[in-house]
Amino acid sequence: MGEYTAWIISIGNELLIGKTVNTNATWLARKLTLLGYEVRRIIAIPDYEEDEVETFREAIRRGVRVVVSTGGLGPTFDDRTSEYLSRALNRPYVLNDDALRLVVEKFKSRGIELTEPRLKQAKMPLGAKPLPNPVGTAPGIWVKEGNTIIVALPGVPSEMMAIFENYVEPKLRELGPKLHFVERSIEVKGVPEADLAPIIERGMKMSSRIYIKSHPKGHEIGAPYIELHVYASAERREDAERDVDNVVQFLINTIREKGGVVLSG
Ligand code: ATP
Repeated sequence: MGEYTAWIISIGNELLIGKTVNTNATWLARKLTLLGYEVRRIIAIPDYEEDEVETFREAIRRGVRVVVSTGGLGPTFDDRTSEYLSRALNRPYVLNDDALRLVVEKFKSRGIELTEPRLKQAKMPLGAKPLPNPVGTAPGIWVKEGNTIIVALPGVPSEMMAIFENYVEPKLRELGPKLHFVERSIEVKGVPEADLAPIIERGMKMSSRIYIKSHPKGHEIGAPYIELHVYASAERREDAERDVDNVVQFLINTIREKGGVVLSG
């Protein structure tokens, strides 16, 4: 296997009965690809012990560099990813002091009572590191086994994305292949975020290296004001630059056609 391989494991029965669209996997695949990892599997499994244990062990056995799972980290009895991951690693499932601190702080600041199921969110495989959850309560999990890094994240997309962008992405960028990173921002006025969404989607499809993030900056004299952050990474700087330039040009033209005002940074 290559040096920088990745698997995405999507855990949750609701994915397998067709109730939930697996948007987490698509989002993570793009992020990991941009970081220079080669995603070799996206696997959706139910939250059953044998499926989870088997899948994590298979990834480790194959020496996959990074495994990212989503789902099953919540407080309810059927959220058991952390426990099954401990079993897959043959490690004790223990209360983690740092995780406990994070969880206790969260509940105290929100005035929520600490109950046994809530404290369960601080239990992890021995030797794991908790990843703070800026949105919800369950911390993510970072654990290393041999050459494989396993990251377990909550299923709720906003929590999954916040933990990944704040704590996982910077570390994986550091550990991943050395790539050239190119970014540019433009400011858009007069086009609502909802109308920008399909334009952003088209822009992202122009290249597999591109990522576009919109940051609403509020309203200015009644008109929506949004910053678009465009970035790409590539082995060769000129490839990343060309992609960013092309996409920024496309965004500017399309937004102006829609009557928006673009201030290019
Ligand atoms: P919590 O129990 O705290 O809500 P969790 O980590 O246990 O979080 P799940 O219970 O597995 O997460 O999922 C919570 C919700 O997140 C699901 O009902 C679904 O709406 C959404 N979700 C889960 N997995 C995915 C996925 N792969 N893609 C998109 N949405 C998902």
